[in-house]
Amino acid sequence: MGCTASDVIAALRAAAVVMAEHRDELVNLDRAIGDADHGENMRRGFTALLSKLDSSPPETPGAALKLLATTLISTVGGAAGPLYGTAFLRAATAVGDLAELDGAAVAKALHAALDGVVARGKAEVGDKTMVDALVPAVSAAEAAGGEVDAVLKAAADAAASGAESTVPLVARKGRASYLGERSAGHLDPGARSTSLLLRSFADSARVAR
Ligand code: ADP
Ligand code: MG
Repeated sequence: MGCTASDVIAALRAAAVVMAEHRDELVNLDRAIGDADHGENMRRGFTALLSKLDSSPPETPGAALKLLATTLISTVGGAAGPLYGTAFLRAATAVGDLAELDGAAVAKALHAALDGVVARGKAEVGDKTMVDALVPAVSAAEAAGGEVDAVLKAAADAAASGAESTVPLVARKGRASYLGERSAGHLDPGARSTSLLLRSFADSARVAR
C-alpha cells in the first residue's frame, strides 16, 4: 500500500511533535558548536506548518511536502531553514502530482532532497553537516527497495549512524566551521535533526501500514 496525502500529513504532524520534543536537545547540540538556535528553528518551522495544515490541507503528497518547504523557508532563519526548505521543495518536485507514493517514489524524493541540500550548501560527506546523515540515508533507501516503510526504515537507520559519524569530525561548512579543531567531539545538530526526521517518518510509515 502506498502513502497518500493524508498519510503524509499525519507523518508531518508527527514530525512536528518530534521536533518540539527534541527542541532542547538540538539547542544544546548547537550551543556546543554553533549559536544554540537549531532546536528552536526547527520547532518554530514545524509548529508553523501545523496551523497551515489546519487552514489549507494539501491534497497530494507533493503539495504537503511543498507546504512544508515554503513554511520552513519563510519561518526558519539560519542555514537550516533554506537547506531543509530546498530539500523538501526538491522532494515535492520529484513526486509531482502522484496521489500515492510507493517505496520507489520515496527513495527518489530522498535523493532529490539530498541533491537540493548539496546544490544549496555545497557540503560533502565528512564536512560535519546534515549531508553526513543524508548521503548514507539515500544510499540505504535506494538499496533497500520494497514498500515505503522498509525504505524509510533503512534510511533512518543509516541516517542515525551517519549522524553519529559526525562526532569526531572537524566542521568545514556552516557556523561550526568557525570553531576549527574545537568543533571535533560534538554531534552535528543538523545531522541529528535529519536523523530524527527520518526516524519519525519511518515510524509513521510503519504505523500506517
Ligand atoms: P545556523 O548555523 O545558521 O545557526 P542552524 O543552527 O539552524 O543554522 O543549522 C545548523 C546546521 O545546518 C548544521 O548543524 C549543519 O548540519 C547544517 N549546515 C550548515 N551549513 C551547511 C551546509 N553548507 N550544507 C549542509 N548543511 C549545513
Ligand atoms: Mg544555529
